[in-house]
Amino acid sequence: MVRFQHVDKNFGEVKVLKDIELTIDQGEVVVIVGPSGSGKSTLLRCINGLETISAGRLIIENQFDMSDPKTDLRKVRVEAGMVFQQFNLFPHMTARENVAFGARRARGKAKDEALATADELLARVGLADRGGHYPDELSGGQQQRVAIARALAVGPKLMLFDEPTSALDPELRGEVLGVMRALALEGMTMIVVTHEMAFANSVGTRLIFMDDGRIAHDGDPAEMFANPPSDRFRDFMKDVA
Ligand code: ADP
Ligand code: MG
Repeated sequence: MVRFQHVDKNFGEVKVLKDIELTIDQGEVVVIVGPSGSGKSTLLRCINGLETISAGRLIIENQFDMSDPKTDLRKVRVEAGMVFQQFNLFPHMTARENVAFGARRARGKAKDEALATADELLARVGLADRGGHYPDELSGGQQQRVAIARALAVGPKLMLFDEPTSALDPELRGEVLGVMRALALEGMTMIVVTHEMAFANSVGTRLIFMDDGRIAHDGDPAEMFANPPSDRFRDFMKDVA
């Protein structure tokens, strides 16, 4: 699904990603952790073309070469949906219209069909009765679930999550993590940047620790938690716990 080969990303003089080598296969749930500024968001953003890479090769689904300027980023974003820390819903659209928007834009669905898809997806994220509400009438956890439904409406094969629960009060995080867990159980390929270690341990099939622009560790979550592979990782875990 995703193949980084010796990828660098620089912002001016600043080297943010350094020689990233990473292959992610279908059905994997990859959790990425690491200190603030280590390059986690940038790595995700390269995958759906929100950032361009500076060197190396990045291939998505064996067909999109992200270093080729001719690559159609709209097509990449149909394949790779993204959910952000800030939910970024359209404030003037209801939950249902927000979700339908994804289906119409990316899939060219007619309005009725898109709204039917939206209703289905809202039910799937536990919000069947909230379709007519505007974002400011919903809790943060509900808004984030709408954002997930909107990303799914596009029909992605891969979902990218960038700290999806970090903006939420602790008591609202579980409902979002529950939706993500269900998605993982259905077989969705997912890359999740999060500090939710319980999620990493129980849902993640793989744990990546980023440090200073590099992949410092890449392994089995339970094993890494049981036997921290470095002092850096151990110290980081103490800080987030
Ligand atoms: P993380 O998500 O792990 O906190 P980021 O990928 O957001 O890390 O950032 C990695 C580094 O890249 C940081 O030093 C950040 O300041 C820098 N950075 C991120 N985006 C930009 C940008 N658009 N311009 C310049 N520097 C950036
Ligand atoms: Mg980040």
